[in-house]
Amino acid sequence: MGRALRFECQPGCIRCCDKKGFVYITESDLLRIAAFLGLTPSEFESRYAYRTRHTLRLRAPRRGNCHFLTPNGCSIHSVKPEQCRAYPFWPEILSSHDRWLAESAACPGIGMGHLYQIETALETAARMRVVYPWQYSR
Ligand code: SF4
Ligand code: SF4
Repeated sequence: MGRALRFECQPGCIRCCDKKGFVYITESDLLRIAAFLGLTPSEFESRYAYRTRHTLRLRAPRRGNCHFLTPNGCSIHSVKPEQCRAYPFWPEILSSHDRWLAESAACPGIGMGHLYQIETALETAARMRVVYPWQYSR
């Protein structure tokens, strides 16, 4: 990787929220989003999340990939899950320069706008490893 990476989320883009895939949440995400929506944690969990042996995930709606995606973007933007906040600075995407460049096919914000020092991007990736340990410990 180089010493810095350019990335800026593009106005009007919802591509990463709209594509198929799991949105994993942490226990803190659950509490924060529930409070934002005026729900108790258990109400939020039964409506919008489910647990597997190691993970806690948002349920997907019948159509689309996320209940919180609206035509104007994320309706819980200020409290969105760690996974969503961290993108595209995920460990797997920062694993090599080629992988980073390849991700630009999925994210038009890569290579645009703000210049991030590599250390800042790697700090975000390191946090992903901490909050989603089961995903990165294999
Ligand atoms: S794909 Fe990239 S530019 Fe588009 S919404 Fe996601 S982070 Fe922003
Ligand atoms: S919670 Fe928000 S940012 Fe995350 S996938 Fe859903 S709409 Fe996108």
